[in-house]
Amino acid sequence: MIDLRSDTVTRPGPAMRSAMMQAAVGDDVYGDDPTVNALEARVAALAGKERALLMPSGTQSNLVALLVHCQRGDEYIVGQSYHTYRYEGGGAAVLGSIQPQPLPVQADGSLALADIEAVIKPDDMHFARTRLLALENTQSGQVLTPEYQQSAAALARRHGLAVHLDGARLFNAVVELGQPLSDLTQPFDTVSLCFSKGLGTPMGSVLVGSADFIEQARRWRKVVGGGLRQAGLIAASMDYALDHHVQRLAEDHRRAGLLAEALGDLPGVVGVRWATNMVYLELASEDRGLRLQDDLEAQGILIRGGQSIRLVTHLDISDEDIGQVVNAVGTGLRAA
Ligand SMILES: *Cc1c(COP(=O)(O)O)cnc(C)c1O
Repeated sequence: MIDLRSDTVTRPGPAMRSAMMQAAVGDDVYGDDPTVNALEARVAALAGKERALLMPSGTQSNLVALLVHCQRGDEYIVGQSYHTYRYEGGGAAVLGSIQPQPLPVQADGSLALADIEAVIKPDDMHFARTRLLALENTQSGQVLTPEYQQSAAALARRHGLAVHLDGARLFNAVVELGQPLSDLTQPFDTVSLCFSKGLGTPMGSVLVGSADFIEQARRWRKVVGGGLRQAGLIAASMDYALDHHVQRLAEDHRRAGLLAEALGDLPGVVGVRWATNMVYLELASEDRGLRLQDDLEAQGILIRGGQSIRLVTHLDISDEDIGQVVNAVGTGLRAA
């Protein structure tokens, strides 16, 4: 199977599995897992923050960050299509009584500074207390510019807000920009990093921030059921990914570029957008996308069809796979 639905579909290879099997472990709820402790120290140092905390998933990492930043009756400013608003089951509201203030997302994945400023509420009992700005990088594959993030963070701070980054795919931005992780995390109080996307681990995210923040996050992680025991097995896969799967993200970006170039001019394609490891094909109709999905599945290629199709490259997609996909999509769309 060639699976382009997401970069979450990767399976750990033999070398990663072997690193996991050899990990020294202990009970991480007691702080006794040496592999987890070493991973947290390594990621904190890479991100230029005081401390780091292993989390089971990106959703839980963002949730815990929101629960620490915001109290009941507080609000966070977020993009309409950002994961922390749209794709996390409303967790901040459901579990934290935290109100989202969603804003339209600009074509480049950012939130307009004027929009942010306009929704920051004055201290008045009629309003929720605006407490946090939450950004996302990369956003639909797009890299937010360092200048934008500096400006947005500075604006938030002028108004006394904290700033969180959902950096589920921040390593893609690191490789795309050729800048160290700590440069891209610098504007933010807290950052959540996923290892189960492009970095290819079976699970695991890391939340980074100040020592005081992470201490509170550790408590909330336990409350929401994320305190794990011999989690060194997972931390070892993440350590392996830092050693072997970061620089190679450039390959995913190159392959996504090949897809975008080859598919953009096909009949029935009305638009193509490519950034880092994601390609979005806009088709003339939804029906065409759904038929293409069925067509490709019969040939062992998985995509998510619809009028807009997202193709994601990752660790388990080779140059040969790209060639096959280009042929199959070409045949499918020309026949339609
Ligand atoms: C996948 C993703 C998350 C959440 O990660 P899970 O590990 O799937 O819970 C958060 N933000 C973004 C932008 C993501 O793509």
